[in-house]
Amino acid sequence: MPLPHFVPLRETNFSIEHLSSFKRMTPDPIMEIREKITNTDHEQVLIGRDAATGYHGIIAIHNTSLGPAVGGTRFWNYDSEEAALTDALRLSQGMTYKTALAGLPLGGGKSIIIGNHATSDREALLRVHGRFVETLQGRYITAEDVGTSPADMEIVRLETQHVAGLLGRSGDPSPITARGVFRAIQASNRFVSDTDNLSGSTVALQGCGHVGYNLAKLLHEAGAKLIVTDVNGDNVSRLVDEFGAESVLPGDIFSVPAEIFAPCALGGVINDETIPKLKVRIVAGAANNQLLEERHGDMLRERNILYAPDYVANAGGVLNGCIEVLGWDSEHALRKVDAIYDTILSIFENAQAEGITTNKAADQLAEQRLRSGAAL
Ligand code: NAD
Repeated sequence: MPLPHFVPLRETNFSIEHLSSFKRMTPDPIMEIREKITNTDHEQVLIGRDAATGYHGIIAIHNTSLGPAVGGTRFWNYDSEEAALTDALRLSQGMTYKTALAGLPLGGGKSIIIGNHATSDREALLRVHGRFVETLQGRYITAEDVGTSPADMEIVRLETQHVAGLLGRSGDPSPITARGVFRAIQASNRFVSDTDNLSGSTVALQGCGHVGYNLAKLLHEAGAKLIVTDVNGDNVSRLVDEFGAESVLPGDIFSVPAEIFAPCALGGVINDETIPKLKVRIVAGAANNQLLEERHGDMLRERNILYAPDYVANAGGVLNGCIEVLGWDSEHALRKVDAIYDTILSIFENAQAEGITTNKAADQLAEQRLRSGAAL
């Protein structure tokens, strides 16, 4: 289908700062970030600015040893550039581990557009972002993420071919991501209760957005009872109306008695404050970087709460993207998503055998694959 007429943006002073471990800069304010980049072994981190549109974005490439870095574009109003960079570093590293554990010939990256995603300048910002992605000439392939949609990726596509998750192609990854999370919940339930059957189980679901909605649908169909929350009241109402979910205030979701807690909003929700409140046996959800710090995996283990590592559970999105990026058919993508069940179970078994946390067991398996370059 021909692309809409491309009206070029006004010529701008598009500037990119390279904060890579190869190309170092000296100003003091970025020292801390540079240290983080080095400590996490990031290959390259870029900050893009465009004076005409006010665009302020980040692309973080963590690792391309198995193939080009893939990872979505997050559009979010961070408090500071440093907060956005910290998130970009964590998210892109997570993508490397995710693609490695999913057995893909792809690496890990992530990008961020800093700002309010409800802005009226959205289209112009997305186009500048596409130009920013294009500067990497395929080393980084983007897709939708929190704050962006498949329709947005069509706009990004006007400026670069290195984008997946387009309308009418692999499309919105959320339903297939939800299916992967559902399989992770089933595997967790199998490990804890020796059954995949979720009928009668209660699931506390945080975040009723794209993935949360689709996960709630699958859980409802499986006979689970839902207790849900979201900062967006309309999203909550949909689950209450369609699936008979009970709703609670956002701050109360951590302490509701349930078998499973499914975080499907933002990262860092498993932390010192929330862990003592949890009254569940399983944490399994879609959100990236659910553990605020690695030690929170130990705290969950001490409380005998089984954690399904986030980047294994939510790999459905990237597997769906392989329809476009690697030319898979959708049946192949679905088979790979259903295999999340086996991957999660083997991680639980390794963790139990070695007496380590499930997040550590997942990391070890991913690192082993990265070292051996063993894309399946
Ligand atoms: P989304 O933006 O559609 O939904 C997120 C929801 O969380 C929104 O409804 C938002 O209002 C809500 N929310 C934000 N802060 C909250 C809070 N403090 N308490 C309660 N609710 C809050 O995003 P999504 O696509 O559904 O993704 C959800 C999570 O899953 C994200 O962390 C994302 O990175 C991750 N993920 C998504 C996919 C995918 O295919 N969409 C794939 C892998 C991982």
